[in-house]
Amino acid sequence: MPNKQLLNQVHKVTDVYSGTHVVYTSGLHGSGYVDYRNLQNHKELLLEVACAIVQKMRAEEWVEKGDTVNFVGPKTLGAMMVNLIKYELYARTGINARVWALDKVEVPEGQPKTFTWSEEKPDVQDGEFVFMDDLLNQGSTTAAVQRLVATIGGRVVGIAVIGDRSNTTPEKLGVDWVTALETFKLEVSTEEDCLLCRHQFPIALSPGHGQKFKEANPTYQGGFVEKAVSA
Ligand SMILES: [Zn+2]
Repeated sequence: MPNKQLLNQVHKVTDVYSGTHVVYTSGLHGSGYVDYRNLQNHKELLLEVACAIVQKMRAEEWVEKGDTVNFVGPKTLGAMMVNLIKYELYARTGINARVWALDKVEVPEGQPKTFTWSEEKPDVQDGEFVFMDDLLNQGSTTAAVQRLVATIGGRVVGIAVIGDRSNTTPEKLGVDWVTALETFKLEVSTEEDCLLCRHQFPIALSPGHGQKFKEANPTYQGGFVEKAVSA
């Protein structure tokens, strides 16, 4: 299935919008919203998506047919993705997968995000790993995965995600490459600095905290829409 068609299916069951006006749970305002979490209820689609990412890695020549790739995926969606491709990837893409799911470790507030191996840690020395996940955000999950992989002498060489909203470069993330099925350039700002508010763009009540904004600002001149719609 072509990626565009596949992404249309993904957008039907997830909260992914761009070119809109939303309020995040943080209270910040933005021009888009990317939340793939509902894919955990659509495993067959999630498998299709994970395989499509690996096909794109092949097309971009980060991997080639017959390669064995070490994938790490943090819970929840990343772990589901790597577990789904474990036995299916070769037949679908010609790439062999060795996979490790990662669990989040509870840490005191203020401490950096931390992961651990869900099961046995890899017995690969100086191994190269690909970090697979649903969304590349600001890179704090990437950094946590990089630290874990470094403890066994390995290195994260690439990031394989459905969506990239990081607005940064592989170099800054400390990897050689990033492969994403879609990339978002979202404007994010405080309520005070929000250009969309200044230009009175209607605010979506969902997803996010648009409803809360409405309760605090019932007379907002731009008005409100029930649900975000991508431009
Ligand atoms: Zn705004």
